[in-house]
Amino acid sequence: MHPHLEKLLELQVIDYDLGELERSKDYLPDMMENLRSEMQEAAEKLETATKRVEEAQVQQKSLELEIKTKEAELAKYQQQMMSIKTNKEYDALVAEIDSIKAAISQSETTLLETIELISTLEKDIEGLTEKAGGIQENNQRQLEVLQEKIDSIGSKVMTKEQARQTIISSIPKPTLSVYERVRRGKGGRAVVQVKKRACGSCFKALTPKKIQEIKRADRINTCDNCGSLLYWDNEESN
Ligand SMILES: [Zn+2]
Repeated sequence: MHPHLEKLLELQVIDYDLGELERSKDYLPDMMENLRSEMQEAAEKLETATKRVEEAQVQQKSLELEIKTKEAELAKYQQQMMSIKTNKEYDALVAEIDSIKAAISQSETTLLETIELISTLEKDIEGLTEKAGGIQENNQRQLEVLQEKIDSIGSKVMTKEQARQTIISSIPKPTLSVYERVRRGKGGRAVVQVKKRACGSCFKALTPKKIQEIKRADRINTCDNCGSLLYWDNEESN
């Protein structure tokens, strides 16, 4: 391979890494954001279930109190039955008693439902607590790793930039500008291998004469079709 092309290939790897580092400035914070929202979502689900169970417990207390009050009222009416004087009074009191019994029965049904709901919610909360704990622990660990990656971007970029400068200084300016131009135009890869006697980038077949020139490697050859800088590799190029 032409020595300058060899340098450009090294440069291409560094430029790819630099591009990745640049992209990671966007996607690493996005990944962190996703991890945080997952944690928040799990915590909110747990909070909602906890609030619901607390509300149900309040309702349970109030229903129990209500039933107690009504039972006392019922006892009072039943006491009054002893001193009834007229049929009219009797009918009125029976109606009163029937209505309070119905109300008690209604409240008891609601109380049972509430107790059942509390038991279901308590089971839910157990599961949600475990899940939220797992997510918390796992995501926290991932967040730390990602934060370290973010913190190290600057120094990694600097190291790559230094390596880039060293390589650049050994490549002639015109060759470098061809590389830069093709790279910009193709959004990345400028130096490509010949693949099955065709350009490895645009796949256009190369003439035997061109292949000879590329194999000889006494100058830098480019693809007539897409401009890629081509090199020969015996394994893949034939
Ligand atoms: Zn091409």
